[in-house]
Amino acid sequence: MTPSTDRNTELFDRARKIIPGGVNSPVRAFRAVGGTPRFVQRAQGPYFWDAAGQRYIDYIGSWGPMILGHGHPAVVEAVTRAARDGFSFGAPTEREIELAEAIASLMPGLEMVRLVSSGTEAAMSALRLARGATGRSKILKFEGCYHGHADALLVKAGSGLATFGNPTSAGVPPEVVQHTLVLEYNNVAQLEEAFALHGKDLACLVIEPIAGNMNFVRADTAFMRRCRELCTQHGALLVFDEVMTGFRVGLGGAQAHYASLIPGFRPDMTVLGKVIGGGMPLAAFGGPRSIMEQLAPLGPVYQAGTLSGNPVATACGLATLAEVRKPGFYEALTAKTRGLMEGLSAAAEQAGVPFRADSEGGMFGFFLLPELPRNYSQVMKTDGSRFNKLFHGLLDRGVYIAPALYEAGFVSAAHTQEDLETTIAAAAEVFQLIA
Ligand code: PMP
Repeated sequence: MTPSTDRNTELFDRARKIIPGGVNSPVRAFRAVGGTPRFVQRAQGPYFWDAAGQRYIDYIGSWGPMILGHGHPAVVEAVTRAARDGFSFGAPTEREIELAEAIASLMPGLEMVRLVSSGTEAAMSALRLARGATGRSKILKFEGCYHGHADALLVKAGSGLATFGNPTSAGVPPEVVQHTLVLEYNNVAQLEEAFALHGKDLACLVIEPIAGNMNFVRADTAFMRRCRELCTQHGALLVFDEVMTGFRVGLGGAQAHYASLIPGFRPDMTVLGKVIGGGMPLAAFGGPRSIMEQLAPLGPVYQAGTLSGNPVATACGLATLAEVRKPGFYEALTAKTRGLMEGLSAAAEQAGVPFRADSEGGMFGFFLLPELPRNYSQVMKTDGSRFNKLFHGLLDRGVYIAPALYEAGFVSAAHTQEDLETTIAAAAEVFQLIA
């Protein structure tokens, strides 16, 4: 053990005595890749420092929110000012209107927006609203897409299209997921069959349009077009979970990307999180006025939150959105991310390691596979032990990527060309070792 990991080990041992697994969210525990999680002491720009003072180039960015990098001066200033004026009131504030207006102005499908505190809460609430607004119970989701940990969404596929899903977590009674149908991502034939069987009972289809919870898998254009058409035909709502992709893959999120490929394309409802809070607990869901007005206090669908629209979080989100709206922001971020993927691909090829990469805006994925996967089972064909060696090789060289092969990665505006080159050089060394 190097001295630099001693302090992390100490903290991990202490954490495990009092916090289950030593962490407050499972993937932080390094269970998939093995080894000791790094306890973060502080972060600045594209870097964080662990408890032993070791610096890492950060490609998880809090799993997506830190699109500006850590400690952006304008965001720190806005948060500091907001905190001085009070942490939470349980009464409405002007910044909630400003943030809802900002989101609505950038995503035209959101006529109305409600703010909540986590992506889980946003997806769960959107689902309840979809069911309340349509008067239907059944929902459709896809294997490999994650929409937070609400009971009805912790489901894997059943044994056939006529049967509904099975819980993926203990503590979720089968009856609670009996209305959730789980299909293979990008499988048009299965989608059509499912709508033929259950279309009239479906409240909604919920999808990660560019899935970041099975590394990085895009919905094909033809598949997305079919999702839209079938929802419209059968009166089911198309719910875009853009918790990860919203303001990450581009200014209008993944929906703007698909609208550029499919004329007139728009989801019915959108779930947001991560970037809109800039690293503070904030998420949202929105859609057409006619649906959103079904929510309490106007309508019969209940939803509430003590910390919803928190004044410090909204300040953080607004300051973050002000930066990403600046001209050229996404063009620069896209170019950086693509450059990183190209550099990694070239290094892998030189070492003879099977490797495929994809990215959109500041979100990326790479696979130790000869082809880009199109669904979850293809993603899971990755050689796990090889990925783990890649992960640890990079970690030892001061590069922090997601500690699991089924997670996407993130580049921030703060990453410099030098950071990307350092990363590619580190990867080139590791590829030689794992070839
Ligand atoms: N939806 C998607 C697409 C996500 O990536 C996540 C979290 N990674 C969630 C929902 C849940 O968000 P949270 O962790 O804030 O509850």
